[in-house]
Amino acid sequence: MDFIDLKTQQKRIKQQLDAGIQKVLAHGSYIMGPEIKELEAKLAAYVGVKHAVACASGTDALLMALMAIDVGPGDAVFTTPFTFFATAEVISLLGATPVFVDIDPKTFNIDPAKLALAIKALKANDPSLHPLPKAITSPLVGEGKGEGVRLRPRCIIPVDLFGLTADYNAIDKIAKENDLFVIEDAAQSFGAKHQDKMACSFGHVACTSFFPAKPLGCYGDGGMCFTNDAALAAVLDSIRVHGKSTDKYDNARIGINGRLDTLQAAILLVKFEIFPEEVELRQTVAQRYSDLLSTIHDSPYTISVPYIPAGYKSVWAQYSILARDDAHRAAFLKKLKVAGIPTAIYYPKPLHLQTAFAPLGYTPGAFPVSEDAASRIFSLPMHPYLAQADQESIIAALKK
Ligand SMILES: *Cc1c(COP(=O)(O)O)cnc(C)c1O
Repeated sequence: MDFIDLKTQQKRIKQQLDAGIQKVLAHGSYIMGPEIKELEAKLAAYVGVKHAVACASGTDALLMALMAIDVGPGDAVFTTPFTFFATAEVISLLGATPVFVDIDPKTFNIDPAKLALAIKALKANDPSLHPLPKAITSPLVGEGKGEGVRLRPRCIIPVDLFGLTADYNAIDKIAKENDLFVIEDAAQSFGAKHQDKMACSFGHVACTSFFPAKPLGCYGDGGMCFTNDAALAAVLDSIRVHGKSTDKYDNARIGINGRLDTLQAAILLVKFEIFPEEVELRQTVAQRYSDLLSTIHDSPYTISVPYIPAGYKSVWAQYSILARDDAHRAAFLKKLKVAGIPTAIYYPKPLHLQTAFAPLGYTPGAFPVSEDAASRIFSLPMHPYLAQADQESIIAALKK
């Protein structure tokens, strides 16, 4: 059994993939070929925004978004510590400072009430209100440099964890009140929905990833920025290619080499054809898990299945459940391993406790909800082609 089965999908569309790849080999525009624009137009229409800028990875998408709004040393960027490392890595890479905000215990997404408190604490320079980082750290600026400098609140990066969009109604309100940018980290949520709005349409810029294991994945690295702001889209387009300008031999700004390969765009165009159907298959698989798991009564506590608030549709990048504690989780993981069932832990170590962020000075206990989730969460195999029989054997192994 695979944790994420990409082979079944490939078998389904092998002919179209081969044709798409051959087409690129025939026209030879490996860099910024016609497939790039075609993909940008199709995905922008799908998520309901005006502009899309394809790029080399989800990490580059986040980096480019922060660069486009000029985030740098002295700037505070609010985000969650319960996410993939890249979300906060790009903040530090630009010399800005991540200010972590704990998550909601049910959705695992940033808690808007705590976000408001963190902004208030930072503005008042009062860590008794909310834990604040100690130092500005950056490989570019130099560790610890700027310590004691008052940080300027600039931006919020909510993460749509496991495929469920964050609470943007509340987040946007807080952002407006405090004049902050919002960058949606939609690396796990392309295809998700809240009411009539698709993931990748929230905030000033949204960033997704086409890493193979994401809901829409390519056969390598890839990513995309989405925005309704034409000026911002133009800056992202420039940053993607070394800060290019309209003059071929003049560069307008410092940028990166952040292009998506034409070959990856060709692969994504084929995969996108069956993506809406796969989103529905994911709903079926997730529902089956939740139904089957409700039959486990591991007294005194059962496993907590994912919570999807009313009006939300997750794209189920992961199906993550909570054991009652670390030992309970270890016992489950062992039973699954013995039965040959692959599992993963997203995420065992919150970002504020990662070695790389030690200079920020956060201590254990700073974000209790994230730390609690990290100690007992685990993910089961999840993909659109997971058979009912496999899911039944996973549940049987858990029950053993
Ligand atoms: C995967 C992921 C990223 C980074 O995407 P890459 O394409 O791997 O660079 C960023 N944020 C989150 C939440 C992710 O899951």
